[in-house]
Amino acid sequence: MKKILKVLGAMILVLAVIVIAKTLANKPTTQKNIVTLAELPSDAIAHMSKAIQLPTETPNDSFKFDTTTFLAYRKFVESSYPLIQKNLPRTTIDSFNYIYEWKGTDTSILPMVLMAHYDVVPVEASAVILWHAKPYGGEVKDNYIWGRGVLDDKSSMISILEATEAQLKAGFQPKQTIYLCFGADEESSGYGATAVTKYFEKQHKRFDIVVDEGGEISTENNKNIKHPIASIGVGEKGYVTLILTAQKEGGHSSVPGKATAIDILSNAVVKAKANQMPLKLIPPIKSYIERISSYNENFIQKMKQSNLWLFEGSLLNEMSEDPHSNALVRTTIVPTIFNSGVRDNVIPTFATAYLNSRILPGETPNDVKAFIEKTIDDTNIKVTIYPNYQNMPSPTTDINSKAFKRIEKAINSIVDDVVVTPMLMVGATDSRNYRTLSDGVINFTPITNGKGFHGIDERMQISDFKKCFNFYSLLIQGSK
Ligand SMILES: [Zn+2]
Repeated sequence: MKKILKVLGAMILVLAVIVIAKTLANKPTTQKNIVTLAELPSDAIAHMSKAIQLPTETPNDSFKFDTTTFLAYRKFVESSYPLIQKNLPRTTIDSFNYIYEWKGTDTSILPMVLMAHYDVVPVEASAVILWHAKPYGGEVKDNYIWGRGVLDDKSSMISILEATEAQLKAGFQPKQTIYLCFGADEESSGYGATAVTKYFEKQHKRFDIVVDEGGEISTENNKNIKHPIASIGVGEKGYVTLILTAQKEGGHSSVPGKATAIDILSNAVVKAKANQMPLKLIPPIKSYIERISSYNENFIQKMKQSNLWLFEGSLLNEMSEDPHSNALVRTTIVPTIFNSGVRDNVIPTFATAYLNSRILPGETPNDVKAFIEKTIDDTNIKVTIYPNYQNMPSPTTDINSKAFKRIEKAINSIVDDVVVTPMLMVGATDSRNYRTLSDGVINFTPITNGKGFHGIDERMQISDFKKCFNFYSLLIQGSK
């Protein structure tokens, strides 16, 4: 017995030594290759302000654009960027989506796509009084530009246009063809981006790299890491909604039976909520943890992150405690609609609930359906997939790919002491359509701690505008 204890003790000691040695050896490797940032062109801020003043609100009905505003926006782009207008042929797809082509000198290189959308979500009328600037005023104050759409996503569109115009002015000629693609309905149907990619598909185009909105820079998300973290979106979760229908003969509410349709359904929803899909560490999130680990100033956390071979399970459990990190490590399922009953004195025969799910790469809508059926385990409930909309999770861009490395290099050039990591996008963007046309789809804009997305006081720091301008300028210059 004593001998066994001795051996066990020695093993634990060895394990502890390995864990601590690995933790201590895990040192930051921040790259410093900062370039001097170019100043914004003299009229860039005025252009951004003008772009905000045109309220290109996304229509509820995807076919009812406010054509006056969208046409005015087109005019604004044409007159503000004369060299683009003169030198880059524009193709218009479905009225308001645009493709500008900047032909490279070497057509054997696969092209680059810089994309953005310029439609914006509406401003809630009752919330206007809470704003500290007019939502469509395009005001410039306190080192910010204010207004709906300044971050999402006119920051990208105007920065891409400014960078392109400036490079044209400087006489730059890319070797790699560059497409600028601007969408008009990302916030509603996204049909525009689908139509644009269909157009490219017809021409059998493939792209080396596609850059769209998504990831950002944060100095607030992780209090144990005193460096900015740039999260590059490399993949998107999938989307499915399941409809649960319970059926049980109803009748007069004065003589209720044992279980009504509402009872059966409630039970099922409680079960679905209590049994979430299993936790999983997918490659981009694993790389994310590995990359931030060396910067972690909390020793216990750093120890766990530096020794995933031993602490993966414990770390996953920790991550599942917070809704944001939970969404990165599992397929989430949440009830969003609950329907039943017509009168207070009638027991309804049907009850339905909608469960919305965001699916991790590697799983499918059918996996979610099978999981829910097994969890509920009740023949009184029918589970169907909501037919209107579903999406498979996207493939993920490899962090060793040329595309990822190109973005990483650009970020390291414009942000000092930054930790660059891959990230999974939990929502959908227009770029998902490009996954079949490119292995290098990237979601990133160098905005720092963006505030007001879809909400009140949407605003962009002028220093971030400068970063965005330099980021796209570097990407364009990299195409020679
Ligand atoms: Zn957006």
